[in-house]
Amino acid sequence: MSGANLTLNSGSSSLKFALFDNDASEATPEIIGKISGIGTTPVFSVKDANGNAVDGGAFGQLDTATGHAQAIALLLPWLAKHLGDASLAAVGHRVVHGGQFYCGPVRITDAVLDKLDTLIPLAPLHQPHNLAAIRAIADWQPSLPQIACFDTSFHRSQNRLAKQFALPRNLSEEGIIRYGFHGLSYDYIASVLPQHLGELADGRVIVAHLGNGASMCAMQNRKSVATSMGFTALDGLMMGTRCGALDPGVVLYLLQAKGMKISEVEDLLYRQSGLMGVSGISNDMQALQASDDPHASEAIDLYCFKAASILAGLVPSIGGIDALVFTAGIGENSALVRADICKRLQWLGVVLDPDANAGNAGVISVAQSPVKVLVVPTNEEAVVARGCRALLS
Ligand code: ADP
Repeated sequence: MSGANLTLNSGSSSLKFALFDNDASEATPEIIGKISGIGTTPVFSVKDANGNAVDGGAFGQLDTATGHAQAIALLLPWLAKHLGDASLAAVGHRVVHGGQFYCGPVRITDAVLDKLDTLIPLAPLHQPHNLAAIRAIADWQPSLPQIACFDTSFHRSQNRLAKQFALPRNLSEEGIIRYGFHGLSYDYIASVLPQHLGELADGRVIVAHLGNGASMCAMQNRKSVATSMGFTALDGLMMGTRCGALDPGVVLYLLQAKGMKISEVEDLLYRQSGLMGVSGISNDMQALQASDDPHASEAIDLYCFKAASILAGLVPSIGGIDALVFTAGIGENSALVRADICKRLQWLGVVLDPDANAGNAGVISVAQSPVKVLVVPTNEEAVVARGCRALLS
């Protein structure tokens, strides 16, 4: 492969990567791989575009002590060996927070990195790993161009009202506003909506990105109008380990009445809440669905109740809803969660086809449903690869 772009998505518990041939017309990866389960049971797996294992699937199960730094230290020599005489043209990174600094892909320099460092407190589960990966690549091949593509960029189309908190004006002006996240996923879904919805793609569409992190985006003309995440990726839906929307008074109570340290509250809200906190079993939806513990089903019920409520709260921003799109790990695979959320939205005109839903079909609503319901796999890597091409061409 010559002139390949590498994309890196360094998440809270995984390092995903993909290689895109720069000469190929479509941004479809030649190689896709990940080191998942960082912090628990790390596994290194690599597949080609047809889903076949490459290099025997790479290393399989790794030492449980493998952290993010070790994951990247394993990946780079594997890449060098895999590329052989071929060279990389650029590395594109998913970076969660671009703050008010950036509204599109940017070539990384020391000055850019300094600005992105200041946003670490706003995305503590992701931003430090995103930036560590950039620094590791810079040490490995200092002259290789690196591009950052931001999860916040897609939401820059929102109007002032959608972004503002009801806080004193001076705080909004210094940047304490709603930024929104999962923008690379929404950007991808927006780009493929016409294939699935025809003219309706430019109508009133809500996309539910339900992964380990989860959010929703209300779109019109395939642009973000409102979203459930805010200043940080804590707001909105209940998630794997994050609480989602919370009365801010709870935070004050934890600090003042319970005397918790700030770091303990941060850990509680980001890492010990959500599905994990409510079930006391796991942050993993599949594991909860397989459990017969009543706390597991209560966690799933709460997840779906909150998801439906938040979706309903987004509807006024676009004046109604023509289509609902489910995406990401839970959205693409959990018929149970989709059915539960849709049942709570029947009053809005959502009528699910149970067989299509059970089979994870592309369209899961009945033909007469006033709201069309779709399942569309996301592809954040393709958006990062597109960003690299656009910036370097
Ligand atoms: P992230 O990229 O944010 O780490 P993913 O988009 O991979 O997360 O989603 C992970 C979630 O998807 C997990 O909760 C996992 O249990 C869930 N998931 C994956 N497959 C299924 C399935 N078949 N049924 C239910 N949940 C699933």
